[in-house]
Amino acid sequence: MPRKTRRFSVEIDERTEHMSLEALRCRTFGHAWIERTVAHARRMSLAKLGQVEEILGCERCGGTWETIYALPDFTRVSTKRTYADPGTYLVPPRSGRLRRHEARKALYCRRAS
Ligand SMILES: [Zn+2]
Repeated sequence: MPRKTRRFSVEIDERTEHMSLEALRCRTFGHAWIERTVAHARRMSLAKLGQVEEILGCERCGGTWETIYALPDFTRVSTKRTYADPGTYLVPPRSGRLRRHEARKALYCRRAS
């Protein structure tokens, strides 16, 4: 059952209680992605396969999103998501999706407490 904070009478999804502030911010606002450099050797080995790789890193939570594309059409071959600290980012397995407004409620109530 959701926990209720007395101060705001807001029902907070209890799955957010273990999440870091950074995780709640990324869940609320979206990740702060920047492009990371793909190592030269990696670029060369992918080029032999007719592929390129894009690596995005989140400046806030440290998560990464690696995607490999096939040339010349840039069709997606594979994607890999990683989280710097999955224990403070992800909700428990098979507990469903955390909606953005639930992350926002948890973020604002935690900052105000
Ligand atoms: Zn992030």
